Amino acid sequence: MDFLLSHQDLIASKYAIASTGAGISTESGIPDFRGPAGIWTKDPGAEKRAYQSYEKFRKNPKEYWKERLSGPSLLGDLSKVMPNPGHYALAELERIGILKWIITQNVDNLHQRGGSQKVLDYHGNAFKLRCVSCHTRYDPNTFDLERLNREDQLPPLCQKCQGAIKSDVVHFNEPIPSDVAERSLEEAAQCDLMLICGTSAVVYPFANLPRVAKRRQLEKGMGIILIEINAEPTPLTEQKISDYLIQGKTGQVLPQIVEKVKRIGT
Ligand code: NAD
Repeated sequence: MDFLLSHQDLIASKYAIASTGAGISTESGIPDFRGPAGIWTKDPGAEKRAYQSYEKFRKNPKEYWKERLSGPSLLGDLSKVMPNPGHYALAELERIGILKWIITQNVDNLHQRGGSQKVLDYHGNAFKLRCVSCHTRYDPNTFDLERLNREDQLPPLCQKCQGAIKSDVVHFNEPIPSDVAERSLEEAAQCDLMLICGTSAVVYPFANLPRVAKRRQLEKGMGIILIEINAEPTPLTEQKISDYLIQGKTGQVLPQIVEKVKRIGT
């Protein structure tokens, strides 16, 4: 628990990025999946159902859409939640020029709403739709989904290529869209510091990014520091991929680190 080091490491870094998971948003009231109060932890059946979503879309996009329009999403109404101090702290690190990108597994749009400009939504964004053929993203208001449902015209079709449109959220067993997958790998390969915040680091291929970062820098003979901020140890801690773990809540730890960075380093 080398809390004291982290602000110095950030100040010394040349290209710091953050990778974030559901844990950074629990303090905004969105449950994670695998933490003690996680959605899967409390209802393992919900995990099974979630694993079927992508297959459902592939087999019958109309039924997928009818189901989506008929009930609330797994994570609840994301338009009602607000960013928390962890999101704001990362936005501040970007504003002062230290953090170059955030790669997030979260679909909740809270980094963007917290002021971060450079965000890669690795698992998509719940506030967007995406064409599965050409990856064009759409604002959901582009389509009158209720009317399409009434007129039996679902799924919505891409205005560029006529491909079927689904939520931008990447479902289990769905490939990561190649644009965001490639860009995330590039960022991981060039960073010299990665803050890994609130992720259990068990969902692949996202969990490979810290490993890629470490391997690439070592291959180049360069140094790299991987700092985990998490409520509990993860496989990255146990396998010594991360250099150290700051065990705590991201909404408390991140603002303290940023305050020190600003006091000492700028
Ligand atoms: P996860 O549920 O597997 O793990 C969350 C981790 O964060 C756990 O290790 C937990 O102990 C820790 N944690 C919880 N609250 C914390 C806090 N306040 N501070 C620090 N650590 C905290 O989440 P994951 O690794 O992101 O994988 C889950 C997948 O589900 C992701 O792919 C993501 O797309 C999706 N998901 C997204 C959201 C969201 O958008 N907010 C919410 C749930 C799940």
